[in-house]
Parts: sequence; structure tokens; C-alpha cells
Amino acid sequence: MVRPIAGEGTAEQTWAAWPAMAQWPVLALDVTEPPLIVAPHPDDEILGLAGLMAMLDAAELVAVTDGEASHPRSTVHTQPELAGIRRAETAEALRRLGLGDAPVTRLGQPDGKIDEEALAAALTERLAPGRWCLATWREDGHPDHEAVGRAAARACEATGAVLLEYPIWAWHWATPGDPRVPWDRAHRIELSPAAQAAKAAAVAAFPSQIAPLGPEPGDAAILPPHVLARFARPFEVVLR
Ligand SMILES: [Zn+2]
Repeated sequence: MVRPIAGEGTAEQTWAAWPAMAQWPVLALDVTEPPLIVAPHPDDEILGLAGLMAMLDAAELVAVTDGEASHPRSTVHTQPELAGIRRAETAEALRRLGLGDAPVTRLGQPDGKIDEEALAAALTERLAPGRWCLATWREDGHPDHEAVGRAAARACEATGAVLLEYPIWAWHWATPGDPRVPWDRAHRIELSPAAQAAKAAAVAAFPSQIAPLGPEPGDAAILPPHVLARFARPFEVVLR
């Protein structure tokens, strides 16, 4: 269900003070092949999973859109310019994770109008029984994130791959213990200090999102510090 993503959202201090998070089971990183990571927009995969990618030292990325609609009222960049900038930012972020050679498939679907059928077919081609597929959560509250989650769920169902869903915007609109979130499926990925440092460097590779493009309101940062704080934890969370 699409939910409004506005205001400050739930502060990271509020999440950090929730004791249940520390009790979630730790995800065993027992994979034998690189996980397939599906990103609706360039940066989602880094915010949600850069630590995991650094820990595994392996990943294959499917970039569904180029994120050209992040600043629809920008006075600085056109949408084609933003698409190019964001593609380059992802490449740099992967390089900072030590994954500069990781395979990346760019589907170039329109930001805001994901073709779920085509995406499910593209993922099905790449998945096999037991392979991990990490996708944004089906109920994350952003239409593209939810479409990606649904398409991945279908592809995993069809192939026997293992679906792991990563929340991004749920950390904004949900609150600790929120009954709209299936917390019973939550697993922690514990990050080593090296993985945390690599993640911080990778997040910093997205200046088009973490800093304003210019002084006009249409050029404001999409990921201001209070949002980034939710992705600077020493662990990551997936719904299994
Ligand atoms: Zn996104």
C-alpha cells in the first residue's frame, strides 16, 4: 500500500531505543553464489544492502530504473542528465565497495512507472533454486519499491530462489512495533567495522541525492541527514 513519504518520519533514535531489534535472528551468510540485488532506483541497493554486499564481496545488480524522476522540479538538471548522474553514482558506489567488476544489468525502465511483468521475466531468467534475490519490500510504501518487491516475489516463486526483502521507506513511515510491518520475518545482517566503513563511503557516492542540487526547493536533497541516519546502523535488516 502506498503511503505518504513526508515530514521527518521516525527518528533513528526512536528505532535505536526499540529493544526488539536486537533480538531478531541473525541472517547466516551461507551463500555459494553472488546474490541478485534488485534496485528500483540507484541508491536503494546501497542504503539497504551495501554492508551485505561488502561482507559477501559479491553481488549481481539489476538496476530497474535510472532514477531520473528524483527531482521533477529541478532547476539545475534535466531528467536525462539526472539519469546519467545517478548511473555514474551507482558505479562509483560499487567501486567503493570493492565490487567495481560486479555484473550490472540496467533495465532502464521509467522511474515511477515500473513494468512489473517485464521485470518479473527479467528476474526469472537470472534466478535458480536456492539463489538469494534481494528486493525492496512489497509493502515499503513507495509504488516503485512495491512493484519491485512483487515482481521479485513472483520470480522467486517461479524459480525456487530465496526472496529476502529490504525495507527502505518503511523506516520513515512505520514506528517500532507497527502492526503494518511483519516484524516476525525480520533478520539482522551484522556488519563488520570494515563493512560499515565501506557502506559509509558508498552512500557518500550519491551527491545528487544526499546534497541539494541547488538553492531552489525543487533541488532539495532527497536523503537529508535524518534519513541517512537510518542507514548508518551497524546492521542491516531483511524480511525473510
Ligand atoms: Zn527508491
